[in-house]
Amino acid sequence: AASKPSANRPPSNIENAHISWQEDGAPYSPDYDDVYFSRQGGMAETDHVFLTANNLQARWRTADQHPDAGVFTIAELGFGTGLNFLSCWRLWQQTACKRLRLHFISCEKHPLSVDALHQALSQWPELSDLSVQLLSHYPDHSGGYHRLLLRAGNNQSNRVVLDLYYGDALTLLQQQSSAQARVDAWFLDGFSPAHNPDLWSDAMLAGIAALSRPGTTLSSYSVTGRVVRALRVLDFDVEKRPGFGAKRQMLFARKAQAPDSPPEPSLTNNVQHAVVIGAGLAGATVARALADRGIRVTVLEQLPAIARGASGNAQAIVQMRLNRQADTHWQFHLHSYLFALRYYRDLAAISDNAIAWHSCGVLTLDSAYTNTRHQAGNAARRREPDAYAHYPTRLLRRVSAGESREICGIDLTEDGYLQPQGGWLNPAATCRVCLEHPLITVRRNVRVAAISNNAGRWQCLDDHQQPMSDSDVLVVANSYLAREFQQSATYPVTALRGQITEVAASDASAALKMVVCTERYLAPANSDGLHCIGASYVKNSTATDLSENEQAENLEKSALIRQPVNLGAPAGLSGRASVRGGSGDYMPIAGVVPDPDLDGTDPAPLPGLFISTGHGSHGTASCPILAEHIACLALAEASPLPVALAECIAPMRFIRRQRRRQLKSN
Ligand code: SAM
Repeated sequence: AASKPSANRPPSNIENAHISWQEDGAPYSPDYDDVYFSRQGGMAETDHVFLTANNLQARWRTADQHPDAGVFTIAELGFGTGLNFLSCWRLWQQTACKRLRLHFISCEKHPLSVDALHQALSQWPELSDLSVQLLSHYPDHSGGYHRLLLRAGNNQSNRVVLDLYYGDALTLLQQQSSAQARVDAWFLDGFSPAHNPDLWSDAMLAGIAALSRPGTTLSSYSVTGRVVRALRVLDFDVEKRPGFGAKRQMLFARKAQAPDSPPEPSLTNNVQHAVVIGAGLAGATVARALADRGIRVTVLEQLPAIARGASGNAQAIVQMRLNRQADTHWQFHLHSYLFALRYYRDLAAISDNAIAWHSCGVLTLDSAYTNTRHQAGNAARRREPDAYAHYPTRLLRRVSAGESREICGIDLTEDGYLQPQGGWLNPAATCRVCLEHPLITVRRNVRVAAISNNAGRWQCLDDHQQPMSDSDVLVVANSYLAREFQQSATYPVTALRGQITEVAASDASAALKMVVCTERYLAPANSDGLHCIGASYVKNSTATDLSENEQAENLEKSALIRQPVNLGAPAGLSGRASVRGGSGDYMPIAGVVPDPDLDGTDPAPLPGLFISTGHGSHGTASCPILAEHIACLALAEASPLPVALAECIAPMRFIRRQRRRQLKSN
């Protein structure tokens, strides 16, 4: 038998499940000496022990009748083969709710490999429509939270949010950054308490209770006496019901609730209308995340069109920022990139690829790191064979110059790092597709001079201090201009001018299969036959006229990749200059906005006010997950970010630093 997986590996190196396949095709775990589901009918067991016991369909129907129906959250311990999830999703489809949404969180310490999952699910042809969707998005690597937005077919309204938490269940559940999020039903499906005591410990059950509300239900096939007693102490009413198959009994429990309390009180939204300032990628993705949750959204844009700022270039690169250490920033960049890849794939699928998403790969040559922002020593360390060993090899790998023709289609003289799933897209089209939603209205030529809170409602004021909008939630997503509002003036978002140069494709340049970066990037030609080369980097400049110097610099710094494909200089000035907003510590600034008028190192947030800015040159990777994060915080839903990741991008980090400095100097 395989040895028991070790508990203390870094989160990057989660270990996949060891599966032994039984004669009838059922998966079995030699490590835990237990089966993944009953040999007497896995689907029937799921139906009996989890779906029927928690009375899901009737609860969904009742909650869906409410005009402001919100989200129903299920959390599972042990994703395993995903059979419970898929069966639940199928029931959800059959129920066809109009307003209510489904959020399914599942914890898994040893995810099945994609191949094993494929094999396990092949025995359920009745679930094949849904398993295909799951398999196409399913990650089998990288610890932490993975959010999958799943749809059956092209039906947007049938969307289900699946969060896979890879690592130890208790640790991950305790790291949820949306403090108000609660679970409505629990599926306790770890291996049996005798074989896997960790998933049934008192601490685990206390963690479950802490995330439950009055009326939350819970079920399991196991009726171990210790678990029953512990749940009673935690204020659950516990019943033993007839079990499935050979099991005489199963467990059902409900968190006690006052006799007169309304059924399912937490399933409704109290947000009706949100305003988003800014129609670039940060604003458009937030608007979409809110609208997808049934919220009416108004987007205010000061320019005459959407995506006129840094999100207006013809091509934007989607790549992961690399970190030398397996730290919190590394994890943020890894997970935001993984989410962005899934997000753009989905947006491409629903829009007939109007966003021009090309997951062609991004190759970064070593010379990318030799410019003035990176010292030579740092560049040398990046070339060491194990410099990025903390990344899964399918996300990042070293490529030698000798392999370049085979990999990216052209001969290059340098080694580099390949992100095979990265690529490029058209950011303005991406904004347009995000904003194409019946619940989103975009108002152009509307300049917000100030924002204010009037009796709990947010208002945007014009130059004469007159209110132009009124909403429950307000999201500031206008890049470096966020500094003009008193509430967000303190955040160090710097204007970073960037000019891209457009060069017409050559005969040879069609060979270029992927984005290649040295000190500048060169993307494969777009449908207009143009390659973007970019971008210059000028701090504190908001000028958007084209500069000869910056064009010359773009051409010079991309010579290494232009020459092999015979791309010369454009006839005259060609391209576009725009201004990104970069933050003081190169991390985005997103989340709740602390009240600047309150004292202390941890001032309470202004309720209903959020910000998403400071994305710098990496907004394509960071905007989608931060849009989800903000929508979840606004609606008290479970966020896609664990606390450490939410904190490293939270506005609060600047307040803390500032106030600590003040305390020291006093
Ligand atoms: N619900 C699954 C399905 O539908 O196929 C079956 C789950 S299987 C019985 C139990 C799962 O719990 C295994 O996949 C195992 O890796 C996982 N597990 C065990 N200990 C864990 C822990 N401490 N945290 C998270 N998952 C754990």
